[in-house]
Amino acid sequence: MGVTEELLVERVWMDSTQEMVFIVRVDRSGNFFYEFLNQEAINQTALDASAIGRSVREVHSPEIGKRLESHYRQAAESAKKLKIEDAFQLSTGEVRWYQMVLTPLLNGQEECTHVSAFIREVTKERKADQDALEMWKQIEESRSRYSSLYENNTDAVFTLDLKGRILEGNQTAANMTEFLIDELRDKRFLDYVIAEDPEKFRDYLDQALSTPLEDTRIRFLANNGSQISCLLKLVPIIVGGNRVGIYAILKDMTELDKMAGKFAESENLFQIIAENAHDVIILLNNSGQFMYISPSCFNVYGATREEIEAEPLLSLVHPEETEELDRKLAESILTGELWKMQLRIKHKTRGWVWSELLGTPVFDEDGKFSHKVLLLRDISKQKEYESKLEFFAYHDALTGLPNRRMLKEAMYRKIEHDEEFAVLILDIDDFKEINDGWGHEIGDQVIQEFAHRLSQNIGENDLAARLGGDEFVLLYKGPITSAEAIQKASIIRRSMEISWEALGVELKITTSIGIHIASADASNPSDVLKKADHALYEAKNAGKNNFQLNR
Ligand code: GH3
Ligand code: MG
Repeated sequence: MGVTEELLVERVWMDSTQEMVFIVRVDRSGNFFYEFLNQEAINQTALDASAIGRSVREVHSPEIGKRLESHYRQAAESAKKLKIEDAFQLSTGEVRWYQMVLTPLLNGQEECTHVSAFIREVTKERKADQDALEMWKQIEESRSRYSSLYENNTDAVFTLDLKGRILEGNQTAANMTEFLIDELRDKRFLDYVIAEDPEKFRDYLDQALSTPLEDTRIRFLANNGSQISCLLKLVPIIVGGNRVGIYAILKDMTELDKMAGKFAESENLFQIIAENAHDVIILLNNSGQFMYISPSCFNVYGATREEIEAEPLLSLVHPEETEELDRKLAESILTGELWKMQLRIKHKTRGWVWSELLGTPVFDEDGKFSHKVLLLRDISKQKEYESKLEFFAYHDALTGLPNRRMLKEAMYRKIEHDEEFAVLILDIDDFKEINDGWGHEIGDQVIQEFAHRLSQNIGENDLAARLGGDEFVLLYKGPITSAEAIQKASIIRRSMEISWEALGVELKITTSIGIHIASADASNPSDVLKKADHALYEAKNAGKNNFQLNR
């Protein structure tokens, strides 16, 4: 049986395979002729039985024929089984891939007489490979596009496969965990996570593949055994619409937690200070509503927090100060500066309480106004002291009468307004003797009683002042004639002659008086006083207990 006959015997088997089978004969000049093709070959190619006996070049297009011939030649010359893959473009333009197993058939002289070709179309597989290649190219591309986002991310980024095994990690991941990424590779991410509820966390990790999840807090077990407090974000890795893994992004929360701790501490501290302060501490939100009122409000203003909260802040403030307060509250948000003011705040039972207010606007990290801190302190004692100081700046401590300063200011005002007025300057006669004879205390009481009697003799537009020692001045509003002034001096002189027994000692007090009428063109208080003083000097010289007028 010849080779061809042997092959024909196997025809039935060959026709039943899914592969195309060709047998070509090699002639002495190296041309290849089809000697056999199975049913599958006829099905899949444009060839049919008429190809038998014709050359490979003849039945195919020149391009395909040349390529096929070269493959057969290679097999024939090598005398070895060859596995070749090639793509052919059909006349339709379509490209098909074929995998060919070419086997040379040798005769007794080791000459190749035939070549068998088992050919399988692998277009689908190659297309899939190509798509995969394209996909990986895309992944590579996007990886390089985002690589700096990955590599230089200040958060640790781990790449996990679908089973939650660590495939990769960025530099931050290595630095944070103190592991080499190689040490972590292929390890289960779960094994390094300390979660409050490990079961729940396992579910969480599973869910990450299908649904977007909220960040969660975990602790990561670092190489040195420490537990790093982290915020974990899981992001599915999607390639070509398929989820192929998870990015696990870990933000180290250690520093933030510390800050939060400090904030909580300072909140506590604020609570302790505020609840125990003597001053009233009030926090107002950005709409001016009460956020906090310290309990000291009860001691200072007699009202509970609830009672204060019930009314707007401005309604607790004295009407004369509401406008200023309202303005300063608004201004401080714009200037960002601390401010102060004095104002009266309503006490529930005792009326107005002079208070000092220290206001501080508070801004958040973004510079946005957040709230106001108001510190209120009862300054009624200080106010009282201040008004005393003010009183004594213009009054004499022993008699309570206006002093020289106030007298001069009153005189200035009259001179400025071109008013006429009369000045009576009085000096107690032989006052030294009273001091010497009865003591300084009695001397003081005489001065006080003298002042009292003077005040009884003036009208409400007049003024009695003590210049110092036993010297006093009476200022009478003009217009006033010399006669009227003399009459007043006379009345006063007599009023001092009335009994002084009230002091418990028998005293005789007299006074000398110098009178001057200041005209509308008087130049200054000193000149006026000098003139009256001159008259007083004359009165003393004239034997005391009398008055003189200096025109
Ligand atoms: P003259 O009749 O000339 O006015 O003689 P005089 O003794 O009153 O002497 P003069 O007015 O010059 O002196 C007033 C004295 O008053 C001198 C001083 O020791 C005394 N004196 C001054 N201030 C006070 C005071 O506040 N209290 C007492 N008790 N004595 C004072
Ligand atoms: Mg005197």
